[in-house]
Amino acid sequence: MKIAFFSTKSYDRTHFESEIKESEHSIAFFEDALNLQTAKLVTGCKAVCIFVNNPMDEELIAKIADLGIEVIALRSAGFNHVDLEACKKYGITVYRVPAYSPEAVAEHTVALILTLNRKTHKAYNRVRENNYSLEGLTGFNLHQKTVGVIGTGTIGTAFCRIMNGFGCDILAFDPYENEDVKALGGRYVDFDELVHSSDIISLHCPLIPQTRHMIDKESIEKMKDGVMIINTSRGALIDTSAVINGLKQKKISFLGIDVYEQEDNLFFKDLSNEVIQDDAIARLMTFPNVLITGHQAFLTEEALQEITRTTLQNLSDHEKGKDVKNEVTAEKNIT
Ligand code: NAD
Repeated sequence: MKIAFFSTKSYDRTHFESEIKESEHSIAFFEDALNLQTAKLVTGCKAVCIFVNNPMDEELIAKIADLGIEVIALRSAGFNHVDLEACKKYGITVYRVPAYSPEAVAEHTVALILTLNRKTHKAYNRVRENNYSLEGLTGFNLHQKTVGVIGTGTIGTAFCRIMNGFGCDILAFDPYENEDVKALGGRYVDFDELVHSSDIISLHCPLIPQTRHMIDKESIEKMKDGVMIINTSRGALIDTSAVINGLKQKKISFLGIDVYEQEDNLFFKDLSNEVIQDDAIARLMTFPNVLITGHQAFLTEEALQEITRTTLQNLSDHEKGKDVKNEVTAEKNIT
């Protein structure tokens, strides 16, 4: 199958080029995202392969269907950026890569916690300038702290395993209780108890109408003074302006985010020579106790290998007419 591959980064190309040799597919790589202007590039292809930052609305879906596209292969687990009803209407099948490496995201979550707490990013810069002062670098022990985990699916559970290793007490909130989390000593509580009792709150649930802005003014007011909030899930789980107020009032002592509500206009691009128009992220970056990474939690060699392997497998199975379990449809809306 000929695949038009959009938003190509060097790491995507390396992995897909090495794997494609073993497969029956061919790929045309494009650096741009797929949009109405770039849609004509799909001519002659049967599938498009897109990333999580590529919104697909009905107009775009109709256009690529008209140009002969039968399949959208998402190289992500999340699919909230694709209009699945429109895909159904225009006869386009959508596949995703679920759970490509929960440990990649869970371990990055821990990296954010440790960096914010032990201030290794500040220490690195100081020592390089021969400043060996320890002033302002005091952290806290993770041992015996309470970690609240919202969403205990594959990533949340991998995260619980690591935090259990640190000797943390785990509180969990999820409509479905997970036996693996309970086996680690994790205790399921309601949302209010979790936000009230946790020293660290980490978000691992999907972005759906019920979870949008779950971290808002009201929930922040219920939190412990000095709480640490970590989000490696989806930006809009957090009401950014409420969190900025919480930081200003010193209710929130640490914020670590790998995802941001308005990230579509910022992340995955080099904007170092641009004037940033997003005032909220500009304000966030003025706080010394805020750490932002640009949606890189997934980015490990192991995760990229799995994304590559599963994406090509999805397309091979589709071509052979097999039932592909990684298909997403408007009816089977899992995350
Ligand atoms: P998953 O489907 O395995 O787990 C999600 C869990 O959230 C499930 O247990 C589900 O029951 C729970 N949930 C659903 N509604 C909830 C609610 N209202 N409150 C609390 N919990 C709720 O998904 P996963 O693979 O663990 O991924 C979690 C999220 O991580 C994804 O939705 C995605 O947004 C994000 N993600 C981020 C990156 C990154 O690079 N930053 C990479 C992959 C995934």
